Amino acid sequence: MSRDKYFEERKRVVDYLVSLGYIKSDKVREALLRVPREEFVPEPYRDLAYVDRPLPIGYGQTISAIHMVAIMTEALDPMPGDKVLEIGTGSGYQAAVLAEIVCKNGGGHVYSIERIPELAEFARRNLDRTGYSDCVTVIVGDGTRGYPEAAPYDRIIVTAAAPDIPKPLIEQLRDGGRMVIPVGDRWVQRLYIIDKKGGKTIIRRSIECLFVPLIGEYGWKY
Ligand code: SAH
Repeated sequence: MSRDKYFEERKRVVDYLVSLGYIKSDKVREALLRVPREEFVPEPYRDLAYVDRPLPIGYGQTISAIHMVAIMTEALDPMPGDKVLEIGTGSGYQAAVLAEIVCKNGGGHVYSIERIPELAEFARRNLDRTGYSDCVTVIVGDGTRGYPEAAPYDRIIVTAAAPDIPKPLIEQLRDGGRMVIPVGDRWVQRLYIIDKKGGKTIIRRSIECLFVPLIGEYGWKY
């Protein structure tokens, strides 16, 4: 399939997600139009890149469905120039979408933590090939502890399901910042949108969702 063909497919799915109301803002629309999802899925799945469903990326993990990336990014509401922390790099696709908004337009940066070294390497290669490596730093480690080295963050996004909100992430969120995280049990979660204001945290419980588990010290133990 040619590059143009992928762009046509990308545009079609983005238009559809706009019509459904999942994509609300120009910034999310433009970011999803710019990032080539086919470069973030394993080779055998390239031609399925614009089917709106999660796809396997190896090691029992998945790249999220396109509508879920749209919903998470809209909920996070990243601003140009923001410093963002992502937990669960996976393929690097969500990190690239965030980089389009915060870095390409405003000098911000995305720090993204992945616990599986092979996936971190997969993401680095994908981000490099697509021109996002200056905007995204991929770190191997337990993201439930956050990444204190670059804290505090304007935005924190967790793309794996937590049993509870990891305390270090609240601590590393800047006052006035926002975190989006799926919280619940192993097989169903709610998307929490958490605003930190004046030292208080305000939690809004949004849609139902299903993510792979967040495994670590402040997550699931296995
Ligand atoms: N955002 C990714 C999809 C994430 S899938 C994308 O756009 O492709 C969830 C990822 O979270 C998996 O790769 C899994 O290995 C990782 N993960 C699970 N627990 C983690 C932890 N404690 N720290 C960092 N990464 C974790």
